[in-house]
Amino acid sequence: MSAFNPFTEEHELLRQSVREFIRQEIIPFADEWEARKECPRHIFERMGELGFFGVTFPEEYGGSGMDLWAAAVIAEELAHSNAGGLAMSLYAHAYLPLPLINAVGTEEQKLKYLAPALTGKKIAALAITEPGAGSDVGGIKTTAKDMGDHYLVNGSKMFITNGTMADFIVTVVRHGEGYNMSVLIIDTSLPGFKAIPVKNKLGMHSSDTGQLFFEDCKVPKSALLGYQGNGFYYIMNNLQEERLIACVMGAATAQWALTKAILYAKEREAFGRPIGNFQVIRHKIAKMAISAEACRSFAYRAVHEFIEHGPASVKTVSMAKAFICDETFNVVNEALQIHGGWGYMEDYGIARALRDVRLMTVGAGTTEVMHEIISKMVIDDVRHSHQFVKARGVV
Ligand SMILES: Cc1cc2nc3c(=O)[nH]c(=O)nc-3n(C[C@H](O)[C@H](O)[C@H](O)COP(=O)(O)OP(=O)(O)OC[C@H]3O[C@@H](n4cnc5c(N)ncnc54)[C@H](O)[C@@H]3O)c2cc1C
Repeated sequence: MSAFNPFTEEHELLRQSVREFIRQEIIPFADEWEARKECPRHIFERMGELGFFGVTFPEEYGGSGMDLWAAAVIAEELAHSNAGGLAMSLYAHAYLPLPLINAVGTEEQKLKYLAPALTGKKIAALAITEPGAGSDVGGIKTTAKDMGDHYLVNGSKMFITNGTMADFIVTVVRHGEGYNMSVLIIDTSLPGFKAIPVKNKLGMHSSDTGQLFFEDCKVPKSALLGYQGNGFYYIMNNLQEERLIACVMGAATAQWALTKAILYAKEREAFGRPIGNFQVIRHKIAKMAISAEACRSFAYRAVHEFIEHGPASVKTVSMAKAFICDETFNVVNEALQIHGGWGYMEDYGIARALRDVRLMTVGAGTTEVMHEIISKMVIDDVRHSHQFVKARGVV
């Protein structure tokens, strides 16, 4: 394994089988799912059967115990399918709720939820955001009152991926003021739970997005993940993997859009020659290629640091997330420009990609929130290395 090609032979074999699955079972149907704004449940089962959800999870729960590069392989291949909505639903299932259950769940919880989720028989979601609080996780209002043998949950969650399809939802609730929060695994079959679809989205049409309602929902104490009152910290620690997958998918989407633009520029003629012969278009392509390469390098660097240093990689992961989400949007936008009017139509897939990537600077922590994290850390870095800075004559 080298810094520039982190993938082993095993990863490449996995890539071949994911690619084949996508070619046969996703790409031919993606337009139809998009048009019907439908997320196909059977694809979860197929992903489970083929072992794709379990690549990074322990073997005792049905996983294959590979490293995070295996998840990166799947994320890259899904991005190249240009079925952004479905890809988001699949990764929101595997990399939002499940790592948390794996990290702090009991043996019973892992057997009941993690194992069937890895087979794709049960669909999972993670519910943090509410109608009144997204970036400000400390501002959530959904309550879980301790009733002795159960919790009584009341409140609402918003924009939850897989929200209406999920069999269980890993839900952040509060017990009292401040950060007195917990995470509960809530079965969606429980009385008092209801989910309605959110359909009026800009893009990500082949993903399921739901608004959730909890009205005097009696949740058994066995649903508590980890320790009561530690929920906020669990959630904050869990966000890095979600952001890394977003980085890898974003970088691969930039590469996909670049390739589409190059192919089009070679084939489309204007003023008697291929548009790719115009220097303006060639330079656009050069800049897109630089961006795509920078995104890929940054995404790989962030994955590498996370594997080596875990949560200590937060600065790099946040930087990569902020950078890649903006750059990917710009590359897809330039690809649309190169396609002219045809780019604005559905025919070449660029219009869909542009709608879908627009979510990247909002979901999984907004770019502004990433900038907050990064600015605090870089300012602290300089404060702590003041002597070093002084010695170099900077001050
Ligand atoms: C399609 C879709 C799927 C989603 N899936 C899920 C899911 O599965 N689970 C889930 O829990 N959530 C999900 N979300 C919610 C998503 O994570 C939130 O929308 C996001 O975190 C932003 O929260 P918000 O919408 O409340 O915006 P707000 O937090 O209200 O932010 C509004 C604006 O203010 C800015 N802002 C906020 N705080 C600061 C600050 N401190 N400094 C500077 N600027 C700030 C933001 O960056 C943003 O530009 C999804 C959203 C969408 C649209």
